[in-house]
Amino acid sequence: MSGCYIHIPFCAQKCSYCDFHFSTNHSYQAEMVDALCMELKIRSEVWKNEQFETIYFGGGTPSVLTVEQLQILIEQVKMNYLVSDQVEITLECNPDDCSSENLTAWKKLGVNRLSIGIQSFNDEQLLWMNRSHSASDSRRAVQNAKQVGFDELSLDLMYGLPNMTLEEWKNQLLQIIALNPEHISAYCLTVEQRTALSKWVKEGKLVVSSNEQQSEQFELLVSTLKQAGYEQYEISNFARNEHYSKHNTSYWKGVKYLGIGPSAHGYNQLERYWNQANNKAYMTELKHGRLPETIEILSPFDRFNEALMIGLRTKWGVSKEELFRNITPDEEWLKIVKSYEDQDLLIETTERLVLTESGRLLADAIASELFIIKQ
Ligand code: SF4
Repeated sequence: MSGCYIHIPFCAQKCSYCDFHFSTNHSYQAEMVDALCMELKIRSEVWKNEQFETIYFGGGTPSVLTVEQLQILIEQVKMNYLVSDQVEITLECNPDDCSSENLTAWKKLGVNRLSIGIQSFNDEQLLWMNRSHSASDSRRAVQNAKQVGFDELSLDLMYGLPNMTLEEWKNQLLQIIALNPEHISAYCLTVEQRTALSKWVKEGKLVVSSNEQQSEQFELLVSTLKQAGYEQYEISNFARNEHYSKHNTSYWKGVKYLGIGPSAHGYNQLERYWNQANNKAYMTELKHGRLPETIEILSPFDRFNEALMIGLRTKWGVSKEELFRNITPDEEWLKIVKSYEDQDLLIETTERLVLTESGRLLADAIASELFIIKQ
């Protein structure tokens, strides 16, 4: 079982807080699709016997692709790889791309899950964020998607925004719940270097939430969504009735994944590769039939630390069998685990290490305490 991630490195405009890899120059979009197809073809030599359960179009903004371009990519995957009959095909989209016409076409292509980047229902916030949509576009997008028959909808929201009070955040949460999606992802705004946001923060033009405010907002997020029937199955991800993202869950469970596109990375449980994060260089390499990648061989310590870091963020925790396959922890490590158990932050079963609800608030700190660094 494997997942396939395809990175679409184009966006309509640059959001002021974003440091992902993308371009707003769409003039070579068709050429990029050719390069993505070439990469899919080359990598199939190694991956062709893997059964793909999920295909995920992320970005950037995959919904800026034309329907024909999306069709070419889906067909290329199906032509070169084994794809499950039950494949989950997710498309990340911006609300302003979710016209009934586009949605109907995407559905016909086999897209069966949409991840819609709402981010905020406050138009003033959307304005400084330089999002290309308004709050009413978001509501319309969800309505259109439901009318067209998409029942796997994931909506993204952000907290920790400038001047966001707890009351405002509660209001945002109630608005997203009112749209009744099966899945919600909520991320805290981070100030990334080399973004317009970071410049404004340095100049004192915008003040983002303090760590304390962010923690309060996070706690409100968890309790409000829980009350509305959403299960927190990963720190930032919430689902009703087990409508988990199959694709992301497979990352968190350490399943192999193929990464296609500039800046994408792939993982085969032993090695990780990283594609160049430069559109032109990526396309040039593929034109010459070369993979634009750097390969990193993961040591047993890397795999141990990574399994901890990712697994502890989820409700399933981390498998001890996986963790201890190549590493035997010493007394000191076991003592740290015991101390987290005593503080009611972690539970150790015969098979797994799982954080409690209060432990999950400290997931990153606990995971890094448990990292084993090779001497
Ligand atoms: S749409 Fe997404 S990827 Fe594109 S600039 Fe905005 S946040 Fe970044």
